[in-house]
Amino acid sequence: MNLKEEPLLFELSSPGRVGASLPLCDVPAAPVPPELARDGLALPELDELGVVRHFTRLSQKNFSIDTQFYPLGSCTMKYNPKVNEQAASLPGWRNAHPLSGEEFNQGALELIHSLQEQLCEIGGFAAGSLQPAAGAQGELAGVLVMRAYHESRGDSKRRLVLVPDSAHGTNPATCTMAGYQAKTIPSDAEGGVDMAALAAALDETVAGIMITNPNTLGLFDRNIEAISRAVHGAGGLVYGDGANMNALAGVLRPAEVGIDVMHYNLHKTFSTPHGGGGPGAGFVGVRADLAGFLPGPIVARAEGAYALLMPARSIGRMKSFYGNFGILVRAYVYLRMLGAPGLRRVAETAVLNANYLKCLVEGAYKVKYPRRCMHEFVAQGDLAEGVHTLDVAKRLIDYGFHPPTIYFPLIVPEALMIEPTETESKETLDEFAAVLIRIAVEARERPELLHAAPTTTPVGRLDEVAAARNPTLCYRS
Ligand SMILES: *Cc1c(COP(=O)(O)O)cnc(C)c1O
Repeated sequence: MNLKEEPLLFELSSPGRVGASLPLCDVPAAPVPPELARDGLALPELDELGVVRHFTRLSQKNFSIDTQFYPLGSCTMKYNPKVNEQAASLPGWRNAHPLSGEEFNQGALELIHSLQEQLCEIGGFAAGSLQPAAGAQGELAGVLVMRAYHESRGDSKRRLVLVPDSAHGTNPATCTMAGYQAKTIPSDAEGGVDMAALAAALDETVAGIMITNPNTLGLFDRNIEAISRAVHGAGGLVYGDGANMNALAGVLRPAEVGIDVMHYNLHKTFSTPHGGGGPGAGFVGVRADLAGFLPGPIVARAEGAYALLMPARSIGRMKSFYGNFGILVRAYVYLRMLGAPGLRRVAETAVLNANYLKCLVEGAYKVKYPRRCMHEFVAQGDLAEGVHTLDVAKRLIDYGFHPPTIYFPLIVPEALMIEPTETESKETLDEFAAVLIRIAVEARERPELLHAAPTTTPVGRLDEVAAARNPTLCYRS
């Protein structure tokens, strides 16, 4: 490991140096109560410039979408317009207190109500809830709705949920958390759901299917209507994982192809920065006869005012108060800025960008399912003997690019899952493709460059397993 260590604040300290200037004391000095006294604490002593430079340097060591391209497949690391941030930090929103009561929070409730309606319209759903705090929590809400639906009909023998083998890991985990058993359905040669395997799995023990379309291979499953018909025919419901709505919003309403319940990740499709792992928001939308089961409260309009309402047979709360409200403001602004035609262009451009990039690199990289992709595609990084996807990913860092998602989806060996998003320019895509092609040449001619990468970062190749298992969380001088 080649650690180019940044000194810690403690190590920059020099006795007597001060970075703050306080006004002269104009009240009588009082002794600090002994229980509050902290004499002898080894605090760093620095001047203001030293502190500013230290933290500014540290901030620049982080990778960010504000500085570089971030093609992390399945995550939609799109540009998040700064106007969203401005809107979310308006004092009226920022200082709103959830305990101040509905009558004083009418503006916030109106925003949530309008956002619920826009998101319902985008998916073709009759009703929706903004309670869930993330995609995975939206999934849990949706599958609990599915469960409540079957129970309300006295249908208690259904215990399986079908999950295609290309699914995100949260899908089978959600099934388990909701008290179901996940049953894997293989993909066919086209990368879609294997229809024969689906037919064979369907019976009266199946509660439904969780399907992602476009799936995590970035491929649109053309059999989606036949899949919905088959599942409905067996008495099951169709859950749509909407993490890939970036490819569909404004183009296709999932409810129209038979999706009964679906979540979207507002922090992926509807623009919120999420590189650090949160916060997020997961809208869940449903068809009309499932509306009563939605998690609540949701916002309703009655007698000229907005009010919080618990749906009649609600699965309950997922989150305190109004959910992650700041994220809802960002999604609202994003949608209002784009309008319906703008949203459609987002999806079209996301698909165009992914196909453009795929065409540029598919001569140098294998693509297991080479048909036209949607908003992302999955290439393979086994470029030469002894060279793996991990090496390609680390070498990209040397060239100033964030690596794509790697080793996912699991059904593609050595997967490199690339999602350019609609917000990147042709110049950036050309530059990224040129670097990928250059790395493919290096893999054959100078593989040691790939194995040593990254060499331009503060920390080199890490033992990621040890880093996760034995984290060093405390400073020891
Ligand atoms: C990101 C993602 C999820 C989980 O969403 P979170 O917001 O991270 O909880 C589920 N499914 C797919 C396909 C995803 O890409």
